[in-house]
Amino acid sequence: MAKKKHRVIKKKTVRTAKRVPKYIFVVGGVMSGVGKGITASSIGKILQARGLSVTAMKIDPYINVDAGTMNPTEHGEVFVLSDGYETDQDMGNYERFMGLKLTRDNYMTTGSVYKSVIERERNLEYQGRCVEVVPHIPLEVIGRIERAANKARADITIIEVGGTIGEYQNILFLEAVRMMKAMRPEDVITVMVSYVPTPTTVGEMKTKPTQYASQTLNSAGIQADFIVARAARPLDEKRKEKIATFCSVRPEHVVSAPDVETVYDVPVNFEKDHLSTLILKRLGLSPRGNTLGQWKKKAEAIRVAKKKVKIGIVGKYFRTGDYVLTDAYISVIESLKHAAYSLGAKPELVWIDSTDYEKSPEKLKELSQFDGVLIPGGFGARGVEGKIAAIEYCRKNKIPYFGLCYGMQLAVIEFARHVAGLREANTNEVKPNGSQNVIDIMPDQKEKLAKKDYGATMRLGEYPALLKNKSIASEAYGRRRIVERHRHRYEVNPKYIERLEKAGLVFAGTSPDRVLMEIAELPRTVHPFFLGTQYHPEFQSSLLSPHPLFVAFLKAANERKR
Ligand code: GLN
Repeated sequence: MAKKKHRVIKKKTVRTAKRVPKYIFVVGGVMSGVGKGITASSIGKILQARGLSVTAMKIDPYINVDAGTMNPTEHGEVFVLSDGYETDQDMGNYERFMGLKLTRDNYMTTGSVYKSVIERERNLEYQGRCVEVVPHIPLEVIGRIERAANKARADITIIEVGGTIGEYQNILFLEAVRMMKAMRPEDVITVMVSYVPTPTTVGEMKTKPTQYASQTLNSAGIQADFIVARAARPLDEKRKEKIATFCSVRPEHVVSAPDVETVYDVPVNFEKDHLSTLILKRLGLSPRGNTLGQWKKKAEAIRVAKKKVKIGIVGKYFRTGDYVLTDAYISVIESLKHAAYSLGAKPELVWIDSTDYEKSPEKLKELSQFDGVLIPGGFGARGVEGKIAAIEYCRKNKIPYFGLCYGMQLAVIEFARHVAGLREANTNEVKPNGSQNVIDIMPDQKEKLAKKDYGATMRLGEYPALLKNKSIASEAYGRRRIVERHRHRYEVNPKYIERLEKAGLVFAGTSPDRVLMEIAELPRTVHPFFLGTQYHPEFQSSLLSPHPLFVAFLKAANERKR
């Protein structure tokens, strides 16, 4: 009998190179507000374009556990991640530049780090040892960074350390950087974003502040590997050499970062100094191609766009002392830009404080000069009547109107009062015992507010919604099911839905169980564009993929005839 032949399949052992995670820390020298977040995002973008997988993290040095309880005038926008975590606006920059979907693993604050160390101590996880600020806090920071890198299976993790070198607040985070660098010098680099001023009286670029910043960084035990020099103009060779000599970095590692027309030029500019090649070389990684071309084309198209679309943004949180602060709405601004650019236009944004319309209603007429009006998210009673008056003006004068979250709730109130005959219409947020509150508190939220349980307790993050066939929304999206990010406590009161619909308001999007109203709009036969979303579409727009509702709004604005 023939022996049964067994085919032995030899297990092939494919030798795959083990992924060695690399880390790039971005720290700020001299002063804040010079574009550390955009630098981190742009470095991520150019490295991604070289075929590497990149993730990003932000460290914020304040005690707040997350950014959810912070006033936007003080800290800028609260960016909501898909998992509902409330973070700093830089997380939005990372997502927009790198097309990433980040989670709570990618964000930490001093408060959140201490909280977990203390919780761990209470659970006896340190087994009776004395738990100290050093090393336990930096070790927790390092643990979080390594976990995020591994979870994302990232070749490179970019970590932005908030604040400026020399501040008391971020010392422990710099200690974590120092420890990581000491443990694995080949795999960790530091990029210092500095500022090179040109005092008007001198007329010459001054590198001294950068030299001091570098020394301060040295005293924390860290040597910068790259210095990104932010300045009004490109650095000349002389300045580059000076910085290189006095800050102990190679001349080619001093990167010029002049002011640019749009932030989307920054990655393109970095590549003029061959930054991705230099970083990869320093980290011992090999590039796989370069795909920055598509981005570059888009960034160039912005420069040649001629047509202007004038958008009025009605809100509060704009003023701080003598300055108008628009950081609180950075995602909204960027989304308007993305949409306008996709139509070959540039948005011209005008900021209007809604309380102006309460003091002087005759000012409402000024809204006619706009191609479109947008009311972003907001909280509290101040300025609400001014916003409602602005919405009424847009509805009656057929000015394209786009309401985001509070902007949608207030549009529903306006419609209820002036079209559906509910003259007392209001929201619980403004009038807790109102007789016709068309915007009501969500039942589970009532308990939370009663217990003063404010932090991270709103309806937060991604939820799906179903769109009505043939609505403006479904036509814009081109599909029936969407997933969008939320941040709210109140909602359209189900008691009034039928009455509002009978009066002509269309709820074009609802939660799949049809309980929560996600979109309210007026048919095109009545108004060129009048639409509000209970969610925040601005958290999911990017240069390469503008949000469909922003595009629809800008299209209507672009076509407005006056
Ligand atoms: N204040 C409103 C609410 O809590 C809207 C919130 C927002 O605009 N993000 O429901």
